[in-house]
Amino acid sequence: MDRAKTRNWRPATRAVRGGTWRSEHGETSEALFLTSGYTYDDAATVAARFAGEEEGMTYSRLQNPTVAMLEERIALLEGAEACRAQASGMAAMTAALLCQLSAGDHVIAARAAFGSCRWLVDNLLPRFGIETTVIDSAEDAQWDAAIRPNTKVFFFETPANPTLDVVDLQYVCDLAKAHGITTVVDNAFATSALQRPLNFGADVVAYSATKLMDGQGRVLAGAICGSEEWIEETLLPFQRNTGPNIAPFNAWVVMKGLETLGLGAHKQSENALELGKFVEPRVPRMLHPGLPSHPRHELALRQMDAVGPIFAFDVESREKAFAILDALELVDISNNIGDARSLMCHPASTTHANMGEEARAEMGVTEGLLRINVGLEDVQDVIEDIDQALKQAGF
Ligand SMILES: *Cc1c(COP(=O)(O)O)cnc(C)c1O
Repeated sequence: MDRAKTRNWRPATRAVRGGTWRSEHGETSEALFLTSGYTYDDAATVAARFAGEEEGMTYSRLQNPTVAMLEERIALLEGAEACRAQASGMAAMTAALLCQLSAGDHVIAARAAFGSCRWLVDNLLPRFGIETTVIDSAEDAQWDAAIRPNTKVFFFETPANPTLDVVDLQYVCDLAKAHGITTVVDNAFATSALQRPLNFGADVVAYSATKLMDGQGRVLAGAICGSEEWIEETLLPFQRNTGPNIAPFNAWVVMKGLETLGLGAHKQSENALELGKFVEPRVPRMLHPGLPSHPRHELALRQMDAVGPIFAFDVESREKAFAILDALELVDISNNIGDARSLMCHPASTTHANMGEEARAEMGVTEGLLRINVGLEDVQDVIEDIDQALKQAGF
């Protein structure tokens, strides 16, 4: 098959067929290549491959056919020139930052972020002499005001975990371009099925593929997308020598997940909107970009095809939040997201527990905050479960 033609396919076709490399057996479903090494017909061939003069695999830290198929499929869906898969979302975030930063550089990050992403910004980068500033991404002017001559990277999630802050992609990417700053967007809450940051001028899109891309809560996985030049010259020297590689089995699972990513992400978004409308009048505070009460509702609708399966709401205290969780019968208490199952968690005591009270308060992760991933069950069953749990907790 002419691989260049796959770029003309529409997204649903790319999701199902993109990146398929058939072996001589003609298998319909992509093959799982569980191999760490490769063999060669003669010594000259291996020398040519190591010299980069001949295409081909040499060692699975550098290339693996199953992983390469996943990478090609993700790049096609993202509209990116290139993609490299990683062992987990955090392996992807760490590699996307460390591959391009050195002591003396400065990073500006949105303060609302997944706990481990904030740990990278608040603890890891400063240990290596990289300065960091966190800003409130809801105020566009804060990005501009924080720029210094040594600012190298903007790093943010949109929508953010777990407060659903929405960053103005066009504004922030334009600002970055004007200052020669590289934009790294964590697109885990949306995925390419709902939002494509590269279309707004983002440079790098990094993923936890554990979430919606797997779609069924099975494996840890991550990915980084960017231009061919950036991947080859900036990411690969780091990745090839530090080895945050995804296992071929996990890559295969995610690749199969991608075939139904669009269907799942849109249906789960629909379910989350319906549940969100039901919950909003019952609770003191709602954080759902799909509802008009969200401060960036219009922006979210403008830059996303649908706002995703995750939202949060505040019930004022840890006691009340725990009472709701403990009353659930169908929805599971779980800190994962992107799963086909509806899952609910209390971020302050789980995903954001280790960041300290002050940082939690600053980013709006209150003691009464609950985050829900709405799955693919019949949404009426989920609504009934949340209804009875809210009633039991006095809402
Ligand atoms: C889960 C998550 C991560 C980390 O991904 P892992 O696959 O768990 O390592 C990073 N960013 C966001 C926004 C996430 O939701």
